[in-house]
Amino acid sequence: MEEFIARLLDLQDCDRDIDRLKADLESIPREMKIHRDDAQGHEARFNQFRDTLDGIKEKQKKLAGDRADNIARVADYKSRLVSLKSNTEYTAMLQQIANTEKMSDQIDNLIIEAMYEEDEAVQILERATKERDRTVKRSALREQSLKLKQRELEEKLAVLHQRREIIASKVESKHLKRYEKARSSGRREVVTGIKHGSCGGCLTKIPPQKVGEIKGGKTYTCPLCGSYVVWTSDSSF
Ligand SMILES: [Zn+2]
Repeated sequence: MEEFIARLLDLQDCDRDIDRLKADLESIPREMKIHRDDAQGHEARFNQFRDTLDGIKEKQKKLAGDRADNIARVADYKSRLVSLKSNTEYTAMLQQIANTEKMSDQIDNLIIEAMYEEDEAVQILERATKERDRTVKRSALREQSLKLKQRELEEKLAVLHQRREIIASKVESKHLKRYEKARSSGRREVVTGIKHGSCGGCLTKIPPQKVGEIKGGKTYTCPLCGSYVVWTSDSSF
C-alpha cells in the first residue's frame, strides 16, 4: 500500500469514529425528549384525573347545598301549614311538602352516588400520582445520565478532532484536498477496497489486469466515482 493511502486510511478511520460519535451525540436530545414527553404525558393524565375529582367535589358541594335548601323549604312549608285557611290550600301545601321531600330523597341518592364516584376518583388519582412521580423521577435520572454521556462524548470528540488535525497534517495537500472535497459532497469512504473485482465505492467493474496491480499494492483511482481503490483484507477478484 502506498504511503499516502495509508495516511488517508488513518484519516478515514478517524473520520468514521468522529461520524459515529456525532451520531451518538445527536441522538441524545432526541432520547431526552422521549423521556420528557413521557413525563409530561403522565403529568397531563394526573391533571385530568385531578380535574375529574375536583368536579365531583364541586358537584357534592352543590348537592349538599340543594339538600340544605330543601330541608329549609320543607320546614318553611310546614310552618306555614297552621296559617292556611282553606282545605284546598292545606292539601296543596301538603302536596308541595311531599314533592319537596321526594326531591330530598333524590338528592340523597345523588349524594351517595357522588360518594362512590369520589372514592373511585381518589383511587384513580392515587395511582396516577404514583405513576407520574415514578416517571418524573425516572425521566430525571435518565436525563442526568444522558447529560453525563453527552459530556463524555463531547470530550472524546474533542480528542478525536485533535487527532484528526495531526493525521491530516501528514497527508499531502493534493490528496487531502481531494479527500475533503469528496467528504464534503457526502461521501463517507474515499479510500475503498475492491469488492468482487469492483470499486467498493460505486461497484463499477475494474479490469482484471488492474485488479492484479491493485493487489500488488498499486493505488487505482476509480474513473467513475473518484475513489482510491485499494486491496483490503476482505477484497476479492
Ligand atoms: Zn467507483
